[in-house]
Amino acid sequence: MKIICIGRNYTDHIKELENEKPTDPVIFMKPDTSILLKKQPFFIPDFSNNVHYEVEILVKIKKIGKYIDQKFAHKYYDEIGLGIDFTARDIQNQLKAKGLSWEKAKAFDGAAVIGEWIAKEEFSDVNDIDFRLEKNEEIAQQGNTKLMLWKIDELIAYVSQYFTLKIGDIIFTGTPAGVGPVATNDTLTGFIGERKMFSIKVK
Ligand code: ZN
Repeated sequence: MKIICIGRNYTDHIKELENEKPTDPVIFMKPDTSILLKKQPFFIPDFSNNVHYEVEILVKIKKIGKYIDQKFAHKYYDEIGLGIDFTARDIQNQLKAKGLSWEKAKAFDGAAVIGEWIAKEEFSDVNDIDFRLEKNEEIAQQGNTKLMLWKIDELIAYVSQYFTLKIGDIIFTGTPAGVGPVATNDTLTGFIGERKMFSIKVK
């Protein structure tokens, strides 16, 4: 399976990082080795002094597809989740400044938190999903999928022009405003609505 991540998909977060508004979605990948194993703590890697959390809505692909038309994109997923795209911001900034790819900052072991899944039918509208991240029981990030620059179906159509989507692939749909650093002993808990989707400890 592969993890396809979307960058800069919420305007507030673009402002926060002083990025330009893109004309196309920014895409990068994480390997399967980046998935944080269930019930394991997240260990801050030695190579970074500034790891940020980015809470994101996840989409799990259930059908193989390429060049998917936007109007059929809804047929390619039936579960929505929540996760964290951990980012070594210091490394990412160094790489960005040199115009190099972000992999070392985004694809390291443990950098992908994947929480529980909810059946798509449980949502009246996938383009109106409230979600949030709490750090030590205080709200760190809050978002709603209606604020996405590219909605889920648009992302599936776009991404599938480049990569064949396969069963079990996961799309990280981008983070809203409020990204910030993690420290040892933090607890990060993610919610869709009032439903707890994951809770992890930082070591
Ligand atoms: Zn992200």
